[in-house]
Amino acid sequence: MIVSLFELFSIGIGPSSSHTVGPMRAARTAIHEIQVASKLHALTGIHVELFGSLAATGEGHCTDIAILLGLEGHTPEGVDPDAIGEYIARIKREKTLSIAGEQIPFDVKKDLVFQKGKFLPYHSNALRITFSFGKEKVKKVFYSIGGGFVVPHDDIKKKRSKSTAPVPYPYDSAASLLALCDKTGMTIAQVAIENEKMWNDEESIRQDLLHIWHVMQASVKRGCETEGVLPGCLRVKRRAFSLYKKLMDEQATVTKDPSIVMDWVSLFALAVNEENAAGGRIVTAPTNGAAGVIPAVLHYYSYFIDDADEEGILTFLLTAGALCQIYRMKASISAAEVGCQGEVGVACSLAAGGLTAALGGTMQQVEHAAEIGMEHNLGLTCDPIAGLVQIPCIERNTMGAIKAINASRLALRESGIHHVSLDEVIESMYETGKEMQTKYKETSEGGLAKFTKIKQHGDIPVSLPEC
Ligand code: SF4
Repeated sequence: MIVSLFELFSIGIGPSSSHTVGPMRAARTAIHEIQVASKLHALTGIHVELFGSLAATGEGHCTDIAILLGLEGHTPEGVDPDAIGEYIARIKREKTLSIAGEQIPFDVKKDLVFQKGKFLPYHSNALRITFSFGKEKVKKVFYSIGGGFVVPHDDIKKKRSKSTAPVPYPYDSAASLLALCDKTGMTIAQVAIENEKMWNDEESIRQDLLHIWHVMQASVKRGCETEGVLPGCLRVKRRAFSLYKKLMDEQATVTKDPSIVMDWVSLFALAVNEENAAGGRIVTAPTNGAAGVIPAVLHYYSYFIDDADEEGILTFLLTAGALCQIYRMKASISAAEVGCQGEVGVACSLAAGGLTAALGGTMQQVEHAAEIGMEHNLGLTCDPIAGLVQIPCIERNTMGAIKAINASRLALRESGIHHVSLDEVIESMYETGKEMQTKYKETSEGGLAKFTKIKQHGDIPVSLPEC
């Protein structure tokens, strides 16, 4: 089903779309339903259980914090990242949730349970919230399917239904999108904006997309201005701050060292992903773990392309959004389902397609660039060390951004005719993801997460329980 672009590019907080943003939305939805049913006054207790990947890496991804915030009615878009620590300290101290004026008993240690090693059948990212009204119990199950999207258990059959949204230009594959463009004479970006008019008028869509761009710019700026160490046992040093200073101090010009452009692109990605890891404000694009790729490539476009303008930024985001719809319909953007292919891989593909469109590429070149962007991320596993969205995630976004620019440049040098279609590579990604072992799908049980010795700066080993 075609969804609004603002569900794909949403403003949220770090560190994870599936483990932070999604669970916060699920908890808020659940409590809202209790309020709508006028049962809040009768509520005597809440018990939350996390399953699968949410249980395995939820602590490092702040899933517990997100759920507490959601139950108290906060949204990823609206919550003040600087106030979160205070909210959580109060809930833990008073053993009470404050929900729309009602005080509900909630002991975080007993009422928020990580059911490690247990899975619910439909999806690895599952959570169950049990509301008690005296002896009566009401259970609500949600699946956080990636990119901040949440599916209530009752709606699971609707997830991959064919596009039934009443958009004027429906499509469910790259081939059908290109055929649509061919038939109507519209670009991919124009198709995206015409469909988006189902939810808003054109001027508001443009303003909202520019707002998304401004939030991305603010994330880069904050990331470049903030030094220190990221939260969590790894004590990972923030690198964007010093890299930014070095690049400014060196005053290296592109003429002296053309490769310096790569350092700037890496800086933009590092800055966003460090903000994400620190629980700061970012744009889910299309996930939090991969939130740095698209902003980094957009900054590249904005700073290093001579005739870059606002129209180019809009074309980039609209095209990337149109392509993202296909990944959602045909495959997945959830690392718990398909590994990091579905996060950094998809972001790389979208950025490649978006940049190609902004640079004036044909729709065939856009499709080719997006295909290249995914083809060279096939098989990419998700194995974050200690369950934190830091290593390899932060650096991996720099790789995704550089690869996206390269994919775009390769596609722009060609006619658009190529062997592997975008649809074929998406199908390959999904199939590879389905066959990938669970330990490589956001459980932190395999790969780097298994074989890397946890150490702080100065190589002082710390024990895992501190994580
Ligand atoms: S390894 Fe990739 S998919 Fe996994 S948490 Fe990091 S960025 Fe997300």
